[in-house]
Amino acid sequence: MSTHARLSSSGSSRWLHCPGSLKLEEDAGVEEDSKYAREGTVAHSVCESLLLSVLSPSMSARREVEGENSEMYEAAYKYVCDIEKVRPSGRVETYVERRVDMSKTLGLPETYGTVDCLVVGEKVLQVHDFKYGKGIRVDAEDNSQMQMYALGALEEFDASVIEIYIHQPRLKSLSYWRTTKVALLEFARFASERGKLALKMADEGFPLELLASASSCRWCNAKRTCPQLKDRCAPQFRTKKPVPVSASHEEFALMAGQIELAKIYIKTVEEELRSRLLRGVPVRGFKLVDGRAGRRKWCDEELVSSKLSSLDKDFFTHKVLSPAQILKKDKKIYELLEKYIVRKPSEPVVVGAEDKRLGVGVDVKKLLEKKE
Ligand code: SF4
Repeated sequence: MSTHARLSSSGSSRWLHCPGSLKLEEDAGVEEDSKYAREGTVAHSVCESLLLSVLSPSMSARREVEGENSEMYEAAYKYVCDIEKVRPSGRVETYVERRVDMSKTLGLPETYGTVDCLVVGEKVLQVHDFKYGKGIRVDAEDNSQMQMYALGALEEFDASVIEIYIHQPRLKSLSYWRTTKVALLEFARFASERGKLALKMADEGFPLELLASASSCRWCNAKRTCPQLKDRCAPQFRTKKPVPVSASHEEFALMAGQIELAKIYIKTVEEELRSRLLRGVPVRGFKLVDGRAGRRKWCDEELVSSKLSSLDKDFFTHKVLSPAQILKKDKKIYELLEKYIVRKPSEPVVVGAEDKRLGVGVDVKKLLEKKE
């Protein structure tokens, strides 16, 4: 059996919504892991080690992970604390990095995945997923990857209620969604049909059904070869369309709706440009130059500090911690000093209509009255 499932849970947002992507991705081959993917792998192993040390105190994870950077350790620590907070009471089993197989439920071969943390209570099953990245906030609601994991877990453990948690500590986000076994089995029917279609297209070739959307295309390995991604974003920006300022509401909404896809497409072109130049392939109008070197830092702070302390001049700074650092250290002191905090007011940001936050200018009172 290959180490990668053909219809992977992590890639489900692609093959479910764009079934032809399986064929294009397989043709494109496996991409080398990016720096972020490698960082994510290390962060996951820190989480695993820390969580296991909490579950079996005889194991000391601290020593193992101390060597990692502190941001990574803090993210893993927050993840573990949050799992502890929401773990149900009563008889509970916790599994770390648990492989789950949903092939039987879906009627699809080689459909499996690995859950970061699975908590099995008496009536409830919790699926926890840790994401180290801080680029895109991921929502637990209707998340196909998590639903796939939950289906796999249900092949082994029974539960009527399923709770999904996506932990993104570096974005200060813990997204939660509660669903039922009945709803998941409904999702399984849809996933099974789409998976069969994706496999048929991959094994028999054309015609391919390609459906571009920001959520499917963002992580797709076939971006560089996909005709659909290019075709979907380009027409809205062609010159025969009205320029943004004179477009009607309808036309402008169409243009704005392509922003995310267009960004993905532009990033793909930029990556291809860089890759060609790095391979020595000339591209008219572009060249590679040396970028800025990273920040200077001491390779051994303790050693430098002991050398400086013997000198006449003072080379040390003593700075008050930031409000956020004080809040983390001591909530009472933070509350005492809160009146001295100033901060720049927030600026409105544009997000998609599906974003859970209340829109600026929404009358909360009226909204609550409506709900009652
Ligand atoms: S880039 Fe988008 S449209 Fe093209 S195959 Fe991938 S998911 Fe489908």
